[in-house]
Amino acid sequence: MKSSNTLFIANWKMQKPFSESVAFCKKHHADIIALTEKEGAAIAIAPDFVALDHLVQSFATSNVNIGGQNCSAHKEGAYTGQTSAQSISDTGADFCIVGHSEVRKAFHQTNEDVAQAMLQVLKANMFPVVCIGETEQERSNDETFAVIERQITPLFEIADLAAADNITIAYEPVWAIGTGKNATPSDISNVLLYIKELWEKHLDTPLRLLYGGSISSKNITQFKNIEHLGGFLIGSASLDFQELENIVSLYTESK
Ligand code: PEP
Repeated sequence: MKSSNTLFIANWKMQKPFSESVAFCKKHHADIIALTEKEGAAIAIAPDFVALDHLVQSFATSNVNIGGQNCSAHKEGAYTGQTSAQSISDTGADFCIVGHSEVRKAFHQTNEDVAQAMLQVLKANMFPVVCIGETEQERSNDETFAVIERQITPLFEIADLAAADNITIAYEPVWAIGTGKNATPSDISNVLLYIKELWEKHLDTPLRLLYGGSISSKNITQFKNIEHLGGFLIGSASLDFQELENIVSLYTESK
């Protein structure tokens, strides 16, 4: 994947069981690959873990990236029910999301846990997609930038030690996920600039920045021309191929 390509990651969450994931790929295989041929579009899918291997095999000869939705902060051990980054990588997956707000909340993850999960992803030779973002309450208390700083700070040391040049950070305000309320282009622009400046104070490795939160074909054109924006993490709208295709086309055409 060229780092200059706009990246669209479909996060299927727990919305498509194995059978539906397989059926979706069978039905839309050629169309999904065709999306990667559109100028400036890189396509990635994060399916249910059980469907990971199938999707990796199915898109093995294409540019479509397949990845996990989460992984353990530990390398291996007695962690029943968890999945290691190495195991995800062994399927042939290219990336893994870490720190999604749904995971942070369900598993009481700290920012340090998320940083450790990112380390495991890097060690397993995948690219990490680290989700950060403030809650509604933090936003109304004017704490957005302080929250972002707390979330991002533990990543610096790890990124530095790993000399990682393939880290992606997704700004996903918690209040925008699955709510139909998206952040405005100026909210996004301010936060991305803040992240970039913080990053560059500590590291000189490149960083890809995404936005996620209630993206749909109805609002995607608002997000054209946002400085430093390298793509999108898309939940609900990615479950329907036609909607995903519309999002990609509307964004990339005459960009
Ligand atoms: C997500 O889960 O990462 C997400 C952005 O969800 P949605 O697009 O449904 O808001």
